[in-house]
Amino acid sequence: MKYVYFFGAGKAEGNGSQKNLLGGKGANLAEMAGHSKLKLPVPPGFTVSTDVCAYYYDNRRRYPSELKAQVNAAIRKTERVMKKKFCDPKNPLLLSVRSGARVSMPGMMETVLNIGLTSKTIPGLIKQTGGNERFVYDAYRRLITMYSDVVMEKAAGVEPKEGKGIRHQIEHLFEKKKKALGVSEDTDVGAEDLKDLCEDMKKLVKKVLDKSFPDDGEKQLWGGLGAVFASWNGMRAIKYREVERIPHEWGTAVNVQTMVFGNMGDTCATGVAFSRDPGRDVKDIFYGEYLVNAQGEDVVAGIRTPAPINKASQSADNKDLVTLEKLMPGPYKELNAIQKRLERHYRDMQDIEFTIEDHQLFMLQCRVGKRNGTAAVRIAVDMVKEKLITVKEAVCRVTGDQLDEWLHDILDPEVEKKTKAVVKGLPAGPGGAQGKIVFTSEEAERVAKLDAHDDVQGEPVILVREETNPEDVKGMWASEAILTQRGGMTSHAALVARGWGKCCIVGCAKLDIDAKRKTLKIGKRVFKSGDSLSLNGSTGNVYAGEFPTIPPDTSGKTLSTFLKMCDKVRTLKVRTNAETPADAALARGFGAEGIGLFRTEHMFYGGDPEALACLRRMILAGDEKAQQKAINQLFRFVKKDIKGTLKAMKGLPVTIRLLDPPLHEFIPHEDKGLRKIARELKTPFAEVKKRADSLHEVNPMMGHRGVRLGITHPAVTEMYVRAILESAGELSKKGIRVFPEIMVPVVAVETEMAHQFELIKGVHKTVCKKLGVRKVNHMVGTMIETPRACLITKKLVRHGAEFFSFGTNDLTQMTFGFSRDDIGGFMGQYLDQGIMAADPFGTLDKGVKKLVKKAVKKSRKVNPKLKVGICGEHGGDPASVKFCHHVGMNYVSCSPYRVPIARLAAAQAVAEE
Ligand code: PEP
Ligand code: MG
Repeated sequence: MKYVYFFGAGKAEGNGSQKNLLGGKGANLAEMAGHSKLKLPVPPGFTVSTDVCAYYYDNRRRYPSELKAQVNAAIRKTERVMKKKFCDPKNPLLLSVRSGARVSMPGMMETVLNIGLTSKTIPGLIKQTGGNERFVYDAYRRLITMYSDVVMEKAAGVEPKEGKGIRHQIEHLFEKKKKALGVSEDTDVGAEDLKDLCEDMKKLVKKVLDKSFPDDGEKQLWGGLGAVFASWNGMRAIKYREVERIPHEWGTAVNVQTMVFGNMGDTCATGVAFSRDPGRDVKDIFYGEYLVNAQGEDVVAGIRTPAPINKASQSADNKDLVTLEKLMPGPYKELNAIQKRLERHYRDMQDIEFTIEDHQLFMLQCRVGKRNGTAAVRIAVDMVKEKLITVKEAVCRVTGDQLDEWLHDILDPEVEKKTKAVVKGLPAGPGGAQGKIVFTSEEAERVAKLDAHDDVQGEPVILVREETNPEDVKGMWASEAILTQRGGMTSHAALVARGWGKCCIVGCAKLDIDAKRKTLKIGKRVFKSGDSLSLNGSTGNVYAGEFPTIPPDTSGKTLSTFLKMCDKVRTLKVRTNAETPADAALARGFGAEGIGLFRTEHMFYGGDPEALACLRRMILAGDEKAQQKAINQLFRFVKKDIKGTLKAMKGLPVTIRLLDPPLHEFIPHEDKGLRKIARELKTPFAEVKKRADSLHEVNPMMGHRGVRLGITHPAVTEMYVRAILESAGELSKKGIRVFPEIMVPVVAVETEMAHQFELIKGVHKTVCKKLGVRKVNHMVGTMIETPRACLITKKLVRHGAEFFSFGTNDLTQMTFGFSRDDIGGFMGQYLDQGIMAADPFGTLDKGVKKLVKKAVKKSRKVNPKLKVGICGEHGGDPASVKFCHHVGMNYVSCSPYRVPIARLAAAQAVAEE
């Protein structure tokens, strides 16, 4: 069995397609090193496959017997390329050990650098580097720090005392040393002092961990390998996988690679770059940051503020720092050419890590770059224009969540204009957010009340930290926004927040954070835990207090161009669920092609109070005459709403559902309200109260609602239908195109529906007579939201249904027997325990899908042209939208803000075929 894959010197045993086996990093290293069109300067090395990780966990943390020989053979190959030898005292080869799962998990697993440095090899390395003792002992210091932390403490499962891990203690020792020497920068500590420090560090390691730091390269290498595998199941990696829904069984590969040094002096540098801007709606610019005389970890750790690689990467905060382009024009030119080549090769935006050792460029990593929603849409649009990808590929490059970011809130610009920012940082994640300050991840989770679905139920919070680290992921997730003192656009906080589309500001050096006392000082102002801040993640401005936030402007060209691309690809129509002319107009702005559900009852929630009063009198009237009077009074309100919406939709179809909810929902719960109705009805209070009580149901969602109401209260159906048809007829007569679809809810039996259709027919006749027209254009149809209805769709068509709309909220409720209102009591535990993989009210469940599929198939046998749609909440869920496409529906209908996401998902359904 092959476990080890070599790469380097223009050759590679693996390739870019083997991400499952070699991990993302390993596969891309192989591709960069070995592909005939690339052959990039990659330091040679080898990848230990994910199969070994699986074996390691299946066999009580042991390795396959073949592994050692294969590793040794790969080291020999590496040695031949580098003309150096691992553990050789005269001409030593140093190695790095890094993790690499199938998908990138930034900073969640471990790395050990400078492996192979021992008392025997140190003199050899000093000779190799032309006597650069300072550099060598600094490298040794880094090895001891990383190794003791990652291998000897974390991987060995040692619980640090009082939360002070070995890394903390070592860093403290270093700080003490610097203080004693009277210097502030690491680079000011000389070779001799570093040498002494290394000895002190090793003593400290022995004292704290009761084990000696290994003075043996082989031991270091195997310790490093084991630590990377162990880190796959470290707390933070597990948490990250939970949030990102990455399967735990995937495992990580380990990449062992020749060390190249960006920290050997001022002719060296290291950096991270993106082939296009990963966070803004700007034209393709090569974007990145670097540090002179530094190791890669220094850039991502956010300890020093990096400089821009070129002019395009400059921001207000780093514009005074010299660019790589200026400082090292040769390597920059080569890097620029490589990033272009990589992008053409992979046909996607690349995130690259590079090191320059003595003016010589090395590529350490490339991968598809994480980007926020703004950049994702922009890049997809640009790449189509550049003919790098097809329109179908472009629509698959943006996720629903990323598109959602275009629909994010921003801080109210009017308020912002009038307010002075208290401080400014780097704009790492766009959008605006406000919330209460918290200083730790735990506090963030607690105050935000993260629930079992990872949804925030409590107050919005802003996580304020010196810098974030991978342990903070859950707290970052819980926060509305993240604000850090240190770090650049590629620091941990920035990467993670951008990946999640969160508002984020980093590198805000003027923050003076005291996490212990829970205070944040900015200049003279002191903020405490619980005080409010507002952040503009697009400019980096931080404001004191709570700003109003407003929805974003989606009128920009980039988004509309992208959505037009989606429209070109998709065949499924997208409608909206809306009840007011304003909502209808909003949804049309988002691209809705009709209304798929006009819930007639919604006008009573927050609408004209007189309309509700009429409805209440209608419900509680004692006789038919009083009831008819109330219905007649109600008519004008209903008609006004319907007519306004039909007009706003300008000839697009509008599906209007007849009254659905159980009547008790509309009547007052308190005597005060009932007394008012009693007075209006001129009926004794006791009588009205008795009628109200009689409407009480034990399980109203399965009770007297939907079509059942229409049958017991035919006058109500007649009033609604009259309002619809009179509106439509009057508008048509004025030359305004309208197209109402009258929909009967909660049907289970075909005769229920037929009963309502008869009523509708009668009203149609009367309306035509009144308006003096031969016919008012409309359709009649039904919701399919009971399992029985799914099974009798043929009959429903034969009984006159001209369209179906799946009400999957009720259909899910009735298929499972889960009450849609009470599911919160147990669904959290169901998801936690893996009883169910997803909440069926969020994404369509398999069983419900089966019913829908069968219902569509059977009904289309009777009428192949039957119009079919969905109007349950699932109409805005990307996975469910794709299902609707595949099952042959004509449209999905969802809330206005989900319309763009439904357009995208519908396009992806075609593009992925
Ligand atoms: C449904 O049941 O899916 C539906 C759209 O109707 P409502 O949510 O109003 O019951
Ligand atoms: Mg329903």
